[in-house]
Amino acid sequence: MRIELATQPGDPHHPNEDFASVALPASGRGGALVLLDGVTPPPSGDTGCAHGVPWFTARLGGALLELAVSGREMPLTRCLAEAVSRTAGAHRATCDLTHRRTPQATAVLARWDEERVEYLVLSDSALLVEAPDGTVTAVLDDRIDRLAALGPVTDAHRNAEGGFFTAAADPAVAALAVTGTLPRTEVRALAALTDGAGRWVEVFREGDWAACFAILAKEGPQSLIDRVRDAERSDPDGRAHRRGKARDDAAAVYAEL
Ligand SMILES: [Zn+2]
Repeated sequence: MRIELATQPGDPHHPNEDFASVALPASGRGGALVLLDGVTPPPSGDTGCAHGVPWFTARLGGALLELAVSGREMPLTRCLAEAVSRTAGAHRATCDLTHRRTPQATAVLARWDEERVEYLVLSDSALLVEAPDGTVTAVLDDRIDRLAALGPVTDAHRNAEGGFFTAAADPAVAALAVTGTLPRTEVRALAALTDGAGRWVEVFREGDWAACFAILAKEGPQSLIDRVRDAERSDPDGRAHRRGKARDDAAAVYAEL
């Protein structure tokens, strides 16, 4: 087993809102990975929460990892629902969790053992799965892309019926995640990327997901993030490659099972 992860804030003076972690329990050949991308608050900073996004992603990510490895019989959707509830409980008394911009995150979760690989993807972070023959499949929750094809995506679409969904304060969102289970024999390696790292493919079009996976396997996650930073520097105003943020927090996990 070989596992590497890297993360870097888009702005060195602003806390990183991405979160990445892995756990390799002492027993068996299993493991789990968690990757979150905290949603940046609006410029007004109004979220109804006194804690902030890094506080939220650390708690949600920590709870997810603990539940995924300690409750192996618990489906990943239940792990997510439980972790969302637990995190909401940590600030319900002090913060307005009904605020549309309450701290929230995209999520990728994967767990493997000797027999199978389970995964969950919510919102626009990506999971890449490499088969033993080298084929790379991207598992994506494409709700935002589908909405964007119809018109501007606004805050009104956020965690609303017919819109897109993030892990915020409502555990019911877990049922809306993209999930699946694969036989372990069909998976050689996995990678998870926040959209700040995945923009190498989706924004800068430097290559497809298979090419992105090849960089992760050969050079590691930091090299992918370095390449994204190079691309961002070469188009600082977003003229050639339109994007919401000139530089974004980036995180990537690569796991050879
Ligand atoms: Zn709070």
